Amino acid sequence: MMTHAIHTLDLHFQGETETIATYLVQGTEGWVLVETGPGSTLLTLQAQLRQHGVQPADVQHVIVTHIHFDHAGAAGWWAQNGATIYVHYFGAAHLINPEKLIASATRIYGDQMERLWGQLLPAPAEKVVSLHDGDVIAVAGLTFTAVETPGHARHHHVIKLGNVAFTGDVAGMKLGSRPLLDIPAPPPEFDLEAWQASLDKLLGMGLERIYPTHFGAVENVSEHLQAVKMLVYESAHFVQQKMAEGVARDDLIAQYTVWNHGRAQAAGLSAESIRKYEIANPLYMSVDGMMRYWRKRNSEQ
Ligand SMILES: [Zn+2]
Repeated sequence: MMTHAIHTLDLHFQGETETIATYLVQGTEGWVLVETGPGSTLLTLQAQLRQHGVQPADVQHVIVTHIHFDHAGAAGWWAQNGATIYVHYFGAAHLINPEKLIASATRIYGDQMERLWGQLLPAPAEKVVSLHDGDVIAVAGLTFTAVETPGHARHHHVIKLGNVAFTGDVAGMKLGSRPLLDIPAPPPEFDLEAWQASLDKLLGMGLERIYPTHFGAVENVSEHLQAVKMLVYESAHFVQQKMAEGVARDDLIAQYTVWNHGRAQAAGLSAESIRKYEIANPLYMSVDGMMRYWRKRNSEQ
């Protein structure tokens, strides 16, 4: 018996289709939003909800996989408007007091902050529920389970619902039907071993379908997860090898870009599609994340 329906909502981030999704889940007793997208796409999200007959006030429960802006940037707005936000315990304090997040993102994005991400409003503390590994969220006639899945970020949950799961960023990116995987590995928390272990955990869950935030449902789950596992490994070792050769950051970004464009072209992607991937996941950010990881690893030895 089908007890839920999942709708993929396209936030048209920076005017591009199929870059950032949120998922609207319809249960027997209401609606749940998984991911909020950034503040900059809030009006688009509300318009998409209305197309499904859902008013903002109907959204009482919002679950986020992690607190990166493209996943949870609008969470504060939803909390201020009455929704309960369910978030990894490590991220909860940052949604309640977003000053630190705003300060660190402003260092990266500067005067592009507002255009890219919009407003990051503080969530009232009483509207934030901290999730730990295995915690169950039973709302709207649905039962979700939080699954600890670090690697892309330390504070990351996959949200399981029956035999499907919302995978945030840990199952990589695959934009719509395009035959290309990409992995977002931003600083400061990219962790190769943790990510591989999280993918093994997902592989062991026997999922029928997964919903990466970037973008849309994936059916061939174990083949997809195996390919992501391989790509995380190859990408990290590409960066490690270049660092060992003494390649400096800007050159490494250029070489990483050439490598990735080669993969994209081999997969038959158009220039337009390649651009979409870079809007969803700027390549320099993954290089920075992986360089930071290897520097930290080398300094520990
Ligand atoms: Zn992320």
